Amino acid sequence: MADLYGILGVRRDASLDEIKKAYRQLAIKYHPDRNKGDKAAEEKFKEINQAYEVLSDTEKRKMYDQFGDDGIKGSPFSAGAGGFDFSDLFSGNFGGGNAGGGLGDIFDEFFGGAARRRGGRSAARQGSDLLVTVTLSFDEAYLGTRRDVKVARSGRCAKCAGSGAEPGASRKTCPTCQGRGEVRVSHGFFQMAQTCPSCQGQGNIIEKPCKACQGTGYVREERELSVSIPAGIDTGQKIRMAGEGNAGANGGPRGDVYLNVQVKDHPLFHRDGNDIYLELPVSYAQLTLGDTVEVPTMEGKVDLKVPPGTQPDTKMRLREKGFPAVQGRGRGDQFVILRLEVPRNISSKHRKIIEELKGFDGELKERPFLKDFADKVKKLFS
Ligand SMILES: [Zn+2]
Ligand SMILES: [Zn+2]
Repeated sequence: MADLYGILGVRRDASLDEIKKAYRQLAIKYHPDRNKGDKAAEEKFKEINQAYEVLSDTEKRKMYDQFGDDGIKGSPFSAGAGGFDFSDLFSGNFGGGNAGGGLGDIFDEFFGGAARRRGGRSAARQGSDLLVTVTLSFDEAYLGTRRDVKVARSGRCAKCAGSGAEPGASRKTCPTCQGRGEVRVSHGFFQMAQTCPSCQGQGNIIEKPCKACQGTGYVREERELSVSIPAGIDTGQKIRMAGEGNAGANGGPRGDVYLNVQVKDHPLFHRDGNDIYLELPVSYAQLTLGDTVEVPTMEGKVDLKVPPGTQPDTKMRLREKGFPAVQGRGRGDQFVILRLEVPRNISSKHRKIIEELKGFDGELKERPFLKDFADKVKKLFS
């Protein structure tokens, strides 16, 4: 067997919390549910569990430290001593720095919720949240809208009132685990106690499962929610509908539904926060002489005055023509970026004028950019 500390990637003097933390991370990574059919991952998972079995137990760890593999091989510890309890490790309330709710959720998935359910049948638990994605057009996000959203969620079975038992039937001791709630599974030298798959750790099963819900106590239901979506909403923002999620357990409240909003791009406008950007093509003559140009906004066309001598790529602001702030007051602006478009194909008449203009441009006195450039070039070669 490889070095147990090495398997978990911890130092020999690691604290129990460090060992737990390292184990949890590796167990998530190599758990069979996540690596279906991957033999190497399965082996690794066993190895991790074996290492953790020894290093998380003060006595076994001492033996291992003193005698190495021999200290645990064939020792009284290796056969059925104590077993292994996931619920202790994954209850989520030990001192580890990142033992947040997120991990609890992951382990709910991996272990069929065993860790959470250990609290017993009576513990009320809130139902899980649901995430529904809605896609809005740019205009809908700008103006706000109302959407009917279909949600498939779990509801309490009306026939058995959520008990899972056929009306009139009672519960009996689980024959798989004889009421202990856990079964032992061999992993190499060790045995691990795992939550009983027949009763999910409750120790008893329903004699006659409810036909309407196959004994789960839940049925699938569809609900249509009408949601008001506020003007100014943006991609990635979520709208919470409290108490519309999956049914809770043992009288616990429903979870929530979150609407995950996606806003489609607009062919003309670009959004950044609450501001709108628009690129407007203009000509050399318009920039040189100045002009009044028509600019599209989300609320129709407005006139924009371009002053004479405006440089290309100038960003001009149309105040409060942007998105309304989804929370609070005010709204963003619209920015118009003046993009100089140089003609590619010109008529001979046009060419004549441009050529004439070229001569004039050379005579221009006031060209600060050109003067600055020329000065710098001169310095470079002097
Ligand atoms: Zn039922
Ligand atoms: Zn059982």
